[in-house]
Amino acid sequence: MNRAGGIEILMPALNPAELWQESERWTNFGPELFKLKDRTGRDFCLAPTHEEVSVEIVRRTIKSYRQLPLLIYHIQTKFRDEPRPRGGLIRAKEFVMKDLYSFDRDEKGLDESFEKMRQAYERILQRLKLPYLILEAEAGAIGGKYTLEFTVPTPSGEDEVILCRSCGYASSKSIAMIGDSEVPQGEETPLRKVHTPNLKTVQEVASFLSTTPDRLVKTLLYIADGRYVAALVRGDRELSESKLSLAIGAKSLQMADGETIEKLTGAPMGFSGPVNLREDVLIVADKEVAKMKGFITGANEEDFHLIGVVPGRDFSISMVADIRLAVPGDPCPKCQGKLEEIRGIEVGHIFKLGTEYSEKMKAYFQDEDGSLKPFVMGCYGLGVSRLVSAVAEIYHDEDGLCWPISVAPFDLIIILVNTQDDVQRETADKIYAQLSQKMSVLYDDREESPGVKFKDADLIGIPIQIVVGRKAMENKVELRVRRTREREDVSLEEIEDRVLSLWERLKEE
Ligand SMILES: [Zn+2]
Repeated sequence: MNRAGGIEILMPALNPAELWQESERWTNFGPELFKLKDRTGRDFCLAPTHEEVSVEIVRRTIKSYRQLPLLIYHIQTKFRDEPRPRGGLIRAKEFVMKDLYSFDRDEKGLDESFEKMRQAYERILQRLKLPYLILEAEAGAIGGKYTLEFTVPTPSGEDEVILCRSCGYASSKSIAMIGDSEVPQGEETPLRKVHTPNLKTVQEVASFLSTTPDRLVKTLLYIADGRYVAALVRGDRELSESKLSLAIGAKSLQMADGETIEKLTGAPMGFSGPVNLREDVLIVADKEVAKMKGFITGANEEDFHLIGVVPGRDFSISMVADIRLAVPGDPCPKCQGKLEEIRGIEVGHIFKLGTEYSEKMKAYFQDEDGSLKPFVMGCYGLGVSRLVSAVAEIYHDEDGLCWPISVAPFDLIIILVNTQDDVQRETADKIYAQLSQKMSVLYDDREESPGVKFKDADLIGIPIQIVVGRKAMENKVELRVRRTREREDVSLEEIEDRVLSLWERLKEE
């Protein structure tokens, strides 16, 4: 962060409600915002993120374009009232974050700050020796127009990631785009109404009509920013609400309740279809549906379905968009390769926020021509405690952790095998005195059995181990590498040089 021009500050964990009311997140953030009252009844929250506080600091101190760009960051404990805390450090109510907030004069400045941060994040993850993917992702509660997520691929992660190994396209599953595919079109047959008593699910209707779910089209009704929307996806597909929101530019999207469905279709839930829908319903068809002919839908009449539905002839599509969830095997949107699904741990997320916060919170600066302009913002989060989890997930074996040297709590551990043996103790003391000048050394001289000490050293995963045992009589100790299990006897004369060169090698690896 410093190399990118960031200034480190400390921000309050306890925030007054007023700041969050200005940004409207006091209510919009949802139940994850940890709210509390002080003894006089004033509202506060324990901040999960610090856009509001950083805007407050900047609007009070920065007045001129000459003071921009400004990058401020902090590494601090933050809070979220998670409904289901789990996974050790992955999803906890309290966590450590690094967040940087950038303030620029214009979009061009924001682009530059964003690019600096993207590069800094790549350097950090490379130094941590973590494999990572950069995903296109959803902004969620932070908002903003463009975001990138950094995720560490591992089967134990909670992030669902869609990936193309041919071209490197990677996206959060909820918004992963899908390339064009061949769709079995079906035939243009006359429209027929069939009696389907008490059959509501796609599978029930398909079985009853002796066909497969991919010949059905689901009609899902929503209310988006007060408008009615019908989303059409093939019977065997799942709608992505995120992609639907993006396609129609909706800020809020809610599934229509039973009452609304009856009002719009004239039938109870389970029998909705696009034919003869009320006129004020926007019909958004998935790309696949737009290519199909002669499919089956609800008839907007209780216990009836329509067979042989043809878009254009029987109803009009208002908008065609890619709105279904991607699944493994779908074509890549960039290269037509095959998409795969993997899991990952989200460790970082960077956002181009634009002027959303500065306008809501009236944070302006004076530009060169004298006019007042809102700060153009970005924010850049890195989950410090999550990173510990991600590193542990990638670097461990059956005996414990194998920290990469860049994040290991110590570089070297000296294991004194027999604390009662004078030669061994003197040798270990001497090596400790010598090497602790050069690196961080942990010295295990506990009165424990050698077995316990070896096991503990493996468990805590210090990268370099020196075992001082019986061979100390012959001026030799054993040098071990935790991760690779390399081991060899080294004479006392050589030990310092050998450890230093091993240390350099491990930093490079
Ligand atoms: Zn591809």
